[in-house]
Amino acid sequence: MNKFIPFALPDIGEQEIAEVVDSLRSGWLTTGPKTKRFEQDFAEFVGNGVEAIAVNSATSGLHLALEAIGIEPGDEVITTVHTFTATAEVIRYLGANPVFVDIDLTTLNIDVTKIEAAITSRTKAIMPVHFAGLACDMEAILQIAQKYQLKVIEDAAHAIPTTYQGQLIGSLNSDVTVYSFYATKTIATGEGGMLVTRNPEIAKRCRIMRLHGINRDAFDRYTATKPSWYYEIVAPGFKYNMTDIAASLGIHQLKKVWELQKQRKAIANRYDLELANLPLHLPAKPPNEDIHSWHLYVIRLDDSVKVSRNTFIAQMAAKGIGCSVHYIPLHLQPYWRDTYNLRTEQFPCASYAYERIVSLPIYTKMTESDQIRIIEIVKKNLNCSE
Ligand SMILES: *Cc1c(COP(=O)(O)O)cnc(C)c1O
Repeated sequence: MNKFIPFALPDIGEQEIAEVVDSLRSGWLTTGPKTKRFEQDFAEFVGNGVEAIAVNSATSGLHLALEAIGIEPGDEVITTVHTFTATAEVIRYLGANPVFVDIDLTTLNIDVTKIEAAITSRTKAIMPVHFAGLACDMEAILQIAQKYQLKVIEDAAHAIPTTYQGQLIGSLNSDVTVYSFYATKTIATGEGGMLVTRNPEIAKRCRIMRLHGINRDAFDRYTATKPSWYYEIVAPGFKYNMTDIAASLGIHQLKKVWELQKQRKAIANRYDLELANLPLHLPAKPPNEDIHSWHLYVIRLDDSVKVSRNTFIAQMAAKGIGCSVHYIPLHLQPYWRDTYNLRTEQFPCASYAYERIVSLPIYTKMTESDQIRIIEIVKKNLNCSE
């Protein structure tokens, strides 16, 4: 019996382990020097003068970003249906409403030609998601945002490292970009996230709200004239800080970010080559020399394929291959569907894609023989093996 090939696996090395042990021995379990170092390293990695603020998840980071730009009850934020619920739920945390837009069938990213029609007098922001690690058409999105005076918050949970027109996601002209270090993402800290912005006011608000609304200016132990026990609460903040244990992982994961991307790209390239002549639609490639993070490798079964997507995944599982579906679009989820009366016909591309998409395993620890086995089983399940 062959071993089970999971859908995703983190790649934690000895340096990460040693750094975590060092933190445990140091006595700094929560936010401390390692978190600060991870923030500095991350800001340097993104470049273009951003500040980086470490949080305990991308969900927290997106919530902080929307709060900091002033999203209020009744406001509207435009986003995609083809995403994880976190993207939209943070809008509801603030009593605002997501306005969902359909996707482009090739890229599975938000269809930028449909954004303007979704804008109303209540629209305050656009939240693009760089699905699978392929950048959205940011030029179009930023142009629309400028024209209608909207903020742009990028959900970059999949996008480390991803570039758009040669620039890393996070260094563009949007207001805030948020990354995830959840266990299955391209760099992982178990749970964790990072928010980056070039706007000092947004950064300040996010730092305060990240930790109970404590204004740090009032209690900086090294420069303040106030005693070290003194602090001021200026808002009902959240508990969204990153621990030094997580930051210990992040520091070393970030050092390997390009090497990990290279390995993911090699896996994507082999899939592209070996699956090329099958009744499948392969993932869209970035234009020019841009970088895809290859967080996910999502194929779409052609209409000529006889087996259903569900049967295809069940057959893969029966042969020991873990596949998944990214995502069940939000308009089909009971909460979103019923709260906003969403209908399948409003999202023809996302609805069509959902019935046919399969995420194949992609992770850096996958061996060549594992991948060859996956490819053989895909061919067999499509009745295309020789
Ligand atoms: C994983 C993910 C999130 C949430 O990330 P967490 O760090 O788990 O909060 C948000 N958006 C997308 C698109 C994701 O894939």
